[in-house]
Amino acid sequence: KVRVRFAPSPTGPLHLGGVRTALYDYLFAKNQGGEFVLRIEDTDTARYVEGAEEYIEEALEWCGIIADESPKKGGKFAPYRQSERRHIYDKYTTQILKTDYAYIAFDTAEELDAIRAEYEARGEVFSYDNRTRNQLRNSLTLSEEEVQKLLDEKTPYVVRFKMPVDRTLGLTDIIRGNFAVNTDTLDDKVLVKNDGMPTYHFANIIDDHEMEISHVIRGEEWLPSLGLHTLLYEAMGWETPQFAHLSLILKPEGKGKLSKRDGDKFGFPVFPLNFTDPATGNVSKGYRESGYLPEAFINMVALLGWSPADDKEILSIEEMAKEFDLNKVHKAGARFSKEKAEWFNHQYIQKTSDEALLNLLKNSDLNLTLPDDKLLKVIKLMKERATFPKDIYENGKFFFEAPTSYDEKASKKAWNDETSAILGELSSNLQKTDFNAENLKQIVHDFAENKGLGMGKVMMPLRLSLVGELKGPDVPEIMELLGKEETTSRINNAIN
Ligand code: GLU
Repeated sequence: KVRVRFAPSPTGPLHLGGVRTALYDYLFAKNQGGEFVLRIEDTDTARYVEGAEEYIEEALEWCGIIADESPKKGGKFAPYRQSERRHIYDKYTTQILKTDYAYIAFDTAEELDAIRAEYEARGEVFSYDNRTRNQLRNSLTLSEEEVQKLLDEKTPYVVRFKMPVDRTLGLTDIIRGNFAVNTDTLDDKVLVKNDGMPTYHFANIIDDHEMEISHVIRGEEWLPSLGLHTLLYEAMGWETPQFAHLSLILKPEGKGKLSKRDGDKFGFPVFPLNFTDPATGNVSKGYRESGYLPEAFINMVALLGWSPADDKEILSIEEMAKEFDLNKVHKAGARFSKEKAEWFNHQYIQKTSDEALLNLLKNSDLNLTLPDDKLLKVIKLMKERATFPKDIYENGKFFFEAPTSYDEKASKKAWNDETSAILGELSSNLQKTDFNAENLKQIVHDFAENKGLGMGKVMMPLRLSLVGELKGPDVPEIMELLGKEETTSRINNAIN
């Protein structure tokens, strides 16, 4: 059975890279008819950020990445928050200490510093390895009685992994293939801290085992831990899951990892939702609050590192799940593009119904001073050019407010000494007519013809009077929407 987990640490808001990992986890699980688990890895209390867990849950929900098991939802392997699983870890700490893969280390910071200083004095790079551990106080160098005595005296200690000496590990990654690591390049990581809580490495493999995780899909930054994790499975006598490490998301210029600060630098959000830093009160902008539709956002994120068949670009989450294939995930980093993100949103705005857009606009803080039926018409006319829902309002502001000034360049182009008289006459012709676009178009057309004027000579100043500049949808459509009274009043304002 395929079981996949997303295992964020609540050390801050989820960013683009985290969303992509969660999405690939989810897509793979759904593709395989498996289960997707959300597990909160909060054993590092020093790095815990208030509100981060809630943020992660809300963000995943907004994205439509719905977990089958999670802290909120529960599940057969609950609890899903590591801080609540201490009783489970204790048992395995005892187990690993019985093997030759772990030891109790009593060394103090001062003792360790002294050894580090010796390394440095000799011009060597320090590593907590087999040489170091043999010079320190631990259950490998002390007698059983000495160890027991220190434990009885409640001497603080940590449990460390005993990295085997000079072993070559053959490792396999679904995306990267096979590679080898020599254990002499790895150090003796702390497995259990002096407060009895396991570190990330130990808790992570225990939970992946306990929760029957079959595939670990995570960011490339965890690739260097694969050797240790593989050995931990060996130490515990457990079957290893399969691993897939995802490449980085790169800065728009293609060089270097996209960082949380790049959002400000390049002017796009790197977080799914607004995030208020509890320490500084600073707000980082999110995709949701910037007017992105969740479907567009995750479609964009999915294609940062994966290409579906036929280079299709617009896919729903269900379609993505149907097609998702870890073997087609790119080995190279994926470059983020703000333009592409906006392109996706534009595409999804076109696919969104006018009614749904109306709801979005009404739920924003825009000052919509028109009744719903008129708003729907504005949406219909302005949607095509909109990248964000608010563009409909901002580009169509003239539907809500009469122009208070006229664009200077446009006026020079559209207006001459005769224009006022022409528009005045047209305006009186319009009084008799029914205000629907087709009708209005005909009238303006006939008027221009009778006067022996080109259409532009009439349409341009008319547009300027109504809009204030030479932009916007078809003039007869604008007139229909504004209605007779407002159209007449705007023409009058312009010619007087
Ligand atoms: N807690 C780790 C993180 O925050 C999880 C890494 C993993 O998936 O193994 O990224």
